[in-house]
Amino acid sequence: MEIIEKTKNGLIYYQFKRFNQLNWVEHIFTSRIGWNNENISEKLSKCLDMPKSNRISLRQVHGTDVVLIDSYDEDFNKLSKLEGDGLITDLPNIILSTNHADCVPIYFVDLNKKVIGVAHGGWRGTYGNMTRNMIDKMKGVYNSNAKDILVGIGPSIGPCCYEVGMDLVEMFKNRYPNFSNIFVEKDDKVLLDLWRINYLQARDMGIEVQNIIVSEVCTSCNVDKFHSYRKEGGTKGRMVTAIGLRSGA
Ligand SMILES: [Zn+2]
Repeated sequence: MEIIEKTKNGLIYYQFKRFNQLNWVEHIFTSRIGWNNENISEKLSKCLDMPKSNRISLRQVHGTDVVLIDSYDEDFNKLSKLEGDGLITDLPNIILSTNHADCVPIYFVDLNKKVIGVAHGGWRGTYGNMTRNMIDKMKGVYNSNAKDILVGIGPSIGPCCYEVGMDLVEMFKNRYPNFSNIFVEKDDKVLLDLWRINYLQARDMGIEVQNIIVSEVCTSCNVDKFHSYRKEGGTKGRMVTAIGLRSGA
């Protein structure tokens, strides 16, 4: 398994093993156990050991816009009202965060330049190639080299459960004609593999395959641990990604 489950003070959360090897990055993916919308900032702040007031979470719109955090002078509360589905920074002590209930969380770390990012990719963001946008931004703004970037694809609805209609099948086939095995046919259903599409998008951007980590944990199959919009027929519950650079990074 690429991802590990941790339990602390009644909270269950998840981390990528590979990211844990970096002592200058903190990251987590929350579960439905112990977390709620009221305690989230406080608990994230404790888990990451970074100030609660430095948490940034955009108004997500299933788009592909990326917001850069390049100054401590911003009002982070105000920034969190901006629309966007991706965040990038090279500043320590800032908690970048996105909200999920089946949509794919994608984490980015430039091992050389020490730049981090996180993105929210449902089918729309994945179709729009949010992963490419994130990597493009890292290259353009921070001069990141694809060979140095680690990509982590976190828990979300998997190809075991994500049934889609023929309209989506056609859209993805037309836009990504070279992507193989992005659909799974089961009985008379077609399931879409968002993990593989994000993986292939990252690979196409020059990320080394050994640096693309897929958690392969399905939120819909594991609804005891995760919120799943599909499985629960809608939910207000969200899992939250968080990533931050430690002071002195
Ligand atoms: Zn599943």
